[in-house]
Amino acid sequence: MEDSRLSGIGMTSARTRERLVLRLKEQGISNERVLDRIRNVPRHLFVDEALSSRAYEDTALPIGFGQTISQPYIVALMTEALLAAGPVDKVLEIGTGCGYQTAVLAILVQEIFSIERIGPLLARARRTLRELKIRNLHLRLDDGYLGWAARAPFDGILLTAAPPDVPAQLFDQLRTGGRLIAPIGAESKQELVRYTKTEQGVSRESLGAVSFVPLLSGLQR
Ligand code: SAH
Repeated sequence: MEDSRLSGIGMTSARTRERLVLRLKEQGISNERVLDRIRNVPRHLFVDEALSSRAYEDTALPIGFGQTISQPYIVALMTEALLAAGPVDKVLEIGTGCGYQTAVLAILVQEIFSIERIGPLLARARRTLRELKIRNLHLRLDDGYLGWAARAPFDGILLTAAPPDVPAQLFDQLRTGGRLIAPIGAESKQELVRYTKTEQGVSRESLGAVSFVPLLSGLQR
């Protein structure tokens, strides 16, 4: 039983997952390593059992505490955008949520640091990621606005919740040549932006319109 739940036999079958991968390809995701992660990470384990039949639909789903698991297309897009310039060793993720994006990315980088401000969500993510035997990660209950200065600099920073603007200290924690990907905007509609830190400053590219939950300050234990 345990094994079939982990491998996702039944309503979370290989065919259902392949359909999702095809859909992401049609939408322009082309990095095979990223598509492989979408194929292999059991997304149904990151949502409540009642929602597991919908886990391989390309939609965001509720995970409690007013938060959501991101849409697979957006997870793939952000991961692809982060890796586009070549291998990335050390990544900081802000907004662990259920840990799905963390699991997709972890295998593709050397080390991942992820911060979440809601205690019970982080505890659940920790259990799921442990169950999947993902070990190159460090999770922390904190306000991601501050980043993780003690572990800086990072080659990449990923925000999975939207601030009105990038907190300056996050750029300080990015190494030169590194990339920061974030949804930026005050309301429910934002722009996904990739920033690249160079010797001369920070360059900015838009990756399209997105809809994320807001980046909030303070902790919820
Ligand atoms: N990465 C998740 C998406 C999580 S939704 C996935 O793969 O599906 C965004 C998450 O960001 C929420 O869990 C929310 O609690 C968290 N968040 C919001 N503001 C934050 C902050 N200041 N620091 C850390 N996490 C924050």
